Amino acid sequence: MPIPFQNSYAKLPDTFYIKVDPTPVRAPKIIALNTELAHQLGIDPAELNVAVLSGNRIPAGAEPLAMAYSGHQFGGFSPQLGDGRAILLGEVAGKDIQLKGSGPTPFSRRGDGRSALGPVLREYLVSEAMAALGVPTTRALAAVLSGENVLREEIEPGGIFTRVASSHLRIGTVQYFAARRDRESLEALVDYTLARHYPESKTALDLLENVITRQASLIAHWMSLGFIHGVMNTDNMSLSGETIDYGPCAFMDRFDPAKKFSFIDQQGRYAYHNQASIARWNLTRLAEALLPLIHENEDKAIEIAKESLMKFGPLFEEAYQQKFSAKLGLTDGCDPSLIESLLTLMAEQQADFTLVFRHLSGPDERLFAEFRDPDPVKAWLSQWRASGEIDIELMKRSNPVFIPRNHRVEEVIEAGKQGNFEPFHKLHAILQKPFTEQPQAAEFERSPEPDEIVCNTFC
Ligand code: AMP
Ligand code: MG
Ligand code: MG
Repeated sequence: MPIPFQNSYAKLPDTFYIKVDPTPVRAPKIIALNTELAHQLGIDPAELNVAVLSGNRIPAGAEPLAMAYSGHQFGGFSPQLGDGRAILLGEVAGKDIQLKGSGPTPFSRRGDGRSALGPVLREYLVSEAMAALGVPTTRALAAVLSGENVLREEIEPGGIFTRVASSHLRIGTVQYFAARRDRESLEALVDYTLARHYPESKTALDLLENVITRQASLIAHWMSLGFIHGVMNTDNMSLSGETIDYGPCAFMDRFDPAKKFSFIDQQGRYAYHNQASIARWNLTRLAEALLPLIHENEDKAIEIAKESLMKFGPLFEEAYQQKFSAKLGLTDGCDPSLIESLLTLMAEQQADFTLVFRHLSGPDERLFAEFRDPDPVKAWLSQWRASGEIDIELMKRSNPVFIPRNHRVEEVIEAGKQGNFEPFHKLHAILQKPFTEQPQAAEFERSPEPDEIVCNTFC
């Protein structure tokens, strides 16, 4: 049965995209195929053969295209970005099916349109781990070895990643038409986005408010797991509220609020503790782009947009408190200072974020082992235990045993570069059940030894 493509995006005005086919590669090989996800989408996995997943053959019903968008990158506006190395094949069951690393497009600028294997493996593992952790995210449908080399810092094997998203509409997509003062396309984009993601809503202001709400909850969810996206440019922030464009992302080991991994983020703009304020900054850029559709009088539009943006802070705080209260097993919420004082202890003593929360449900010795000086932890424990009824099952559902620790992901990538994908499959299998103790995988729970610590990530 052919892949049941629908392709609503290809029916939008031609200002939205440029039709382009993937560029064939010489000797592709499938590394991983997510047959479960294929079934969920109503795709016969047999249709997802190596020719299709490498871009060597365009499946019947697909209408390959590169989407246009702009974006603020590290604070500076680039009016013309667009899919430089990604090609949308079309939609299946309302979801985008996109190849990433499938060759140049008219938006490639100086890029080669390709992906190195390392980032493909990282995106596959981390996005699937996020899904299993319950975080809204794009999904991994397949990873392919292209059989060709790409030139990065070094010569590396190339990869092609097949991604599934609720859509690839970004804040940068809205900015693209706003920057061109193309009101007609901007209106078409708002209508399309609302129909696809917020069908109960009608106006540009509704769109802004929906995205604010989803992003506030998403960022709080990231932070409750110690996740650092790494490149929160406006072109990497989705209108649907899913985590998108995994680049140099990572989960932190020892708690450090200023933690960042991305090699290109020298200033720490996208560090762990900046993620909420950056999200708000990005949402302000979205509001700016939507102003002409919010009210015909610009001053009035600004006033209305400001009022909506004011909601981000409280929505984020509420989601953050809720996530962290659950991690402490407190169903009715808790005094925010209880969370803050634990995080302060963890930061002071460089305790492992994941293991501390995991071992809060006992035994205490395992918790104390994560700290250099357990005395202040003992004091905190009594305060916590006196603060309400503790739901251990809730804690176990909220505090993962397994996260894709960066040193493990690097091990997988190094082995993959040597043609060995066993470590990839093993880690992937463990991360499918992140909240479940897996005795045979105990080694994957622990934090890195000093010589295993990975400081930088690359995209
Ligand atoms: P990113 O920050 O990775 O999401 O990428 C920012 C922009 O650069 C997007 O427009 C990408 O399509 C483009 N880009 C990144 N890498 C490449 C590449 N190797 N070839 C062409 N375009 C690229
Ligand atoms: Mg991007
Ligand atoms: Mg990217």
